[in-house]
This record gives sequence, structure tokens and C-alpha cells, in this order.
Amino acid sequence: MRGATSTRTGPGRAAARAAAAAAATDPPDRAAAGNGADPAPRAATLGPADGPLVDSYARVHRDLRVSLTDKCSLRCTYCMPAEGVEWMAQASVLTPDELVRVARVAVGLGITTIRLTGGEPLLYADVVEVVRRISRLEGPDGPVRVAMTTNGIKLPDFLPDLAAAGLGRLNVSLDTLRRDRFLELTRRDRLDRVLAGIEAARRSGLRPLKLNAVAMRGVNDDELVDLVEFALEHDAQMRFIEQMPLDAGHTWDRGRMVTREEILAALGERFDLQPVPGRGGAPAETWAIDGGPHTVGVIASVTAPFCGNCDRLRLTADGQLRNCLFSTTEHDLKPILRGDDPTDEGIEAMIRSCVWRKLPGHNIDDPSFLQPARGMNAIGG
Ligand code: SAM
Ligand code: SF4
Repeated sequence: MRGATSTRTGPGRAAARAAAAAAATDPPDRAAAGNGADPAPRAATLGPADGPLVDSYARVHRDLRVSLTDKCSLRCTYCMPAEGVEWMAQASVLTPDELVRVARVAVGLGITTIRLTGGEPLLYADVVEVVRRISRLEGPDGPVRVAMTTNGIKLPDFLPDLAAAGLGRLNVSLDTLRRDRFLELTRRDRLDRVLAGIEAARRSGLRPLKLNAVAMRGVNDDELVDLVEFALEHDAQMRFIEQMPLDAGHTWDRGRMVTREEILAALGERFDLQPVPGRGGAPAETWAIDGGPHTVGVIASVTAPFCGNCDRLRLTADGQLRNCLFSTTEHDLKPILRGDDPTDEGIEAMIRSCVWRKLPGHNIDDPSFLQPARGMNAIGG
């Protein structure tokens, strides 16, 4: 069911659209300077007031990633600094009512999947309530699908309640099977807890279950086959992610990154891999392992970007809409959420404006590329 506000016209709606057009936080010259700068002026316009949630390159958006918190129980080197994290002010973190309100408007605009992430989403006190309320939302194509990306540590405590609340799918991060490496990589000695979380996920009915590993040279690139075998034993799909320049310390080095080609070459020595067609807007390319049915995925954001089919929009825990992981521009929903307008016109207008302004690609390889100021834990992976 389309949101009631989306077909309304009138001065309120026009004002909301004008305000949304002006609300991106970075000045236009900065937005135009980096990260896939679009030389055409169309990114400054508003886009359609009705119909599908579309950007100026005709990409229809169906996937909303909601970061519940920037806090985390691990300190993965590719994501967070060891110490000195500048946490979001607690007062700026969205409440369940605020999150669900944005989700409801987004679902009315055609969002079909909502993925909860972070930081570590299971550290958000009201995570089960959020899952329960979001999973009841109905969009034009039926009920919204609710998924979660987690480090797994608290899964044994939460899984029964999350499943009962309507969570549909889980991705759990697992970069190594070795305790000493895990400690070095995450700066916490918690591999046993993560493995218990994955075991709980295996026993749950939530499928497909996916395990995510960032492939890192000299860190875990000798474990790729072991990780796939572990995933097979747990009825899960292993997915390898090319490391992206999103670490809070800004230490990413393209030369040290393990590429899609290298990942496939390593796996190809042990498994027969056949490409699976029909990827659509999914970030992962997948291959059937030894004739299937199990598959392995690679998310090659750097060497084989998939921006042309991107259908994703992001909401940070402090209420900023982002149209790309790598965007240097954010759209602040908090003044609307905490203002006195009871209608959802401002939220709808800002979502539409944010999507419309999306650039054609992230251009990580371009010399003008600017790494976002926030780390991955604050953006939401
Ligand atoms: N804490 C949860 C977890 O680790 O699954 C959810 C948030 S985490 C930011 C989401 C995903 O982003 C994880 O799979 C993590 O491996 C990935 N990630 C974080 N930083 C990354 C980076 N610099 N490059 C590639 N992937 C990254
Ligand atoms: Fe935490 Fe996930 Fe970032 Fe690791 S990748 S530090 S688990 S938010």
C-alpha cells in the first residue's frame, strides 16, 4: 500500500520538496568535486514527486540499510580505530518510533527490503521491537523483508526473539577461523562467541544464511578455502568482500587489497566454480561450488563496481540519509523527525531528493576520490 502522503499535492508538499532540495549537508562545490562527480546540473534538481523511488540515472531503489548504532563489541582494523572513537551523542540516535516512521515512509515509496546494521545492531537496546514493527510494514509489493548484518556475538541470546519478531535473513561476519588472528584483527578475544552465534544461526530456520569476510593480504588470504568449507558445514554461503576505503583510520591501501581475481584464483584451486546468472542489483556475484547447490559470493566493490545497478539507500543511526556508502553528502532527517509537522511530507521529500541526487558511481579509483569522513561503523555496512 502506497503511503497516504505520496499522492498528495499542495503548498505543504511543495514546501517540503523545496526544503529537501536545499538540505544536503555539504556545499554543492564539495559534492561536485569528488566521488563520481556528475558534471551535469541535474543532481541539483528534485526528481519526480510520485512513482517509483528513482535516481537521475533511472535506478529504482528498493533496499534500505538502517544503521541502529555506531557502537560495537569488536574493533575490526578495517572499520574502527583501536581507541579514541568519537561516538555519536546518545541524544542524536534515533528512537524506535523515529526509525519506524522513516521505514514506513520508505516502504510506501517502494522499498522492499530493510537491512539492519551498524556498528553492531544487536547493541541497540530496542532491536527486537524495531524488527517486530518494521516486519509488519506492507509495501506496494507485499510485506517488507527484514534482514540483519551482525558480528554474531549476541546472536545466541537474541535469535529466538528476532525470528519470532519477523527477522527473515542473517549475514554474520567471520574473517578468520583462528583465535590469534581474530584477536589481532578485531582487537578482542571473542572468536568463540562469534562461532556460537553462527551455530545458533545454523540451527535457526533463517535462510539463506550468509557469512561475510573481508579478504586481506597477509592476514587471512591463506584461509579462503577453509572459510568456504566452514560455511558449507554450516549450510551458509561464504562471501568475500574486497576491502574498501572506509576504515576510521583512513589507512586503506589499494595495493594491499586482495582482489576479486585473486580470490577466485585461490578458490579455483580447490573448487569447481560456475557463475550463477541473475544477479540483479545484488552486490555479490555468485558461483556454484562443485556443481551446487551451495554457492560462494564475491563483493568486488573496488575492482568490479556494481554502481550501475545499485538500488540501495542508507539511514545512519543519527538520522542522516545517504545515497551511497562513499557519499560525502548527507541529508539530515532529524529536524523533520523532531519538528512539529505531523505529516510525513518532509520525510518523503527528503528521501526522494536524496535518491535523486545519487551520483553514477563511487569512483574509488579516481584521483579526486574523497574517503567519507565517517568510518564504516558510523555509516552502516
Ligand atoms: N557489526 C556488523 C558486522 O560486522 O557484520 C555489522 C556492521 S559491519 C560495518 C557490516 C559489514 O561491513 C561487515 O561484513 C564488515 O566486514 C564490512 N566492512 C566493514 N568495513 C569494511 C571495509 N573497510 N571494507 C569492506 N567491508 C567492510
Ligand atoms: Fe564492529 Fe562490524 Fe565494524 Fe567489525 S565490521 S568493528 S564488527 S561494526
